[in-house]
Amino acid sequence: MFIFLSFDFDADSAEQYYYHDQIVKMSKARFSINVGLQRVLKLLKNYGIKTTFFTPGWVVENYPGSVKMIINDGHELASHGYRHEKLNELSYEEEYNVHKKAVNILKQVQGFVYGFRRPYWEITRNTFAILAQLGVLYDSSLMDSDEPYVFNVNGRTMVELPVYDIYDDWILFEIEHRSPKDVLSMWIYELEAALEEELSYFCLILHPACIGRASRIRILDEFIRFALDRKCRFASGYEIAQKELRKSKKALQ
Ligand SMILES: [Zn+2]
Repeated sequence: MFIFLSFDFDADSAEQYYYHDQIVKMSKARFSINVGLQRVLKLLKNYGIKTTFFTPGWVVENYPGSVKMIINDGHELASHGYRHEKLNELSYEEEYNVHKKAVNILKQVQGFVYGFRRPYWEITRNTFAILAQLGVLYDSSLMDSDEPYVFNVNGRTMVELPVYDIYDDWILFEIEHRSPKDVLSMWIYELEAALEEELSYFCLILHPACIGRASRIRILDEFIRFALDRKCRFASGYEIAQKELRKSKKALQ
């Protein structure tokens, strides 16, 4: 099984955009810049894990040092809007411009952009067509499967790496206020069930501002050790999408 330990590196992009007069709320988001990201990168380095950070273009522009640390450690940057926009509030033209700007900014620092995850909870009927047109290979936003799959958009092939709410640290910790031990036992239970079901894929959605707190980085460490003991492998979004593409081409032969 491949585990996609995915990170949404939002920093305070959404807070600066939607809540710019809420100083404390913005400071909570900036924990990722000051502390959380460093803890996450250290943990990933300890286990030699290379993964994907879905990062808004605004974060790349405003926190170049943090973004450089991610790239220098060999991780993949993927698109996450420009300012963590609520895409379903945008016109077609506005949404196109957001994706184009975000992709161009990421390309400038990394040279390529393969992946996308929705900022906030929703996408639009235009999102995939725009992403495919911009050359984005995979999306990681939908909840309609627990296995990756290939789909077509206007004649272009894309791969979906599905997600689910109970694998999202922000929902569990910041909205539901669960304890670290409760979340760890749930994720381990979920992984065991996925292994029993012989799934090829398991995805956690993590935010450095949230999982980077001391007690939570500890459960992520325990989760990684549990997964490694069961011969799971860790891969980036791009690696998993490529693997899925190869599988679907083989099936067509
Ligand atoms: Zn986000």
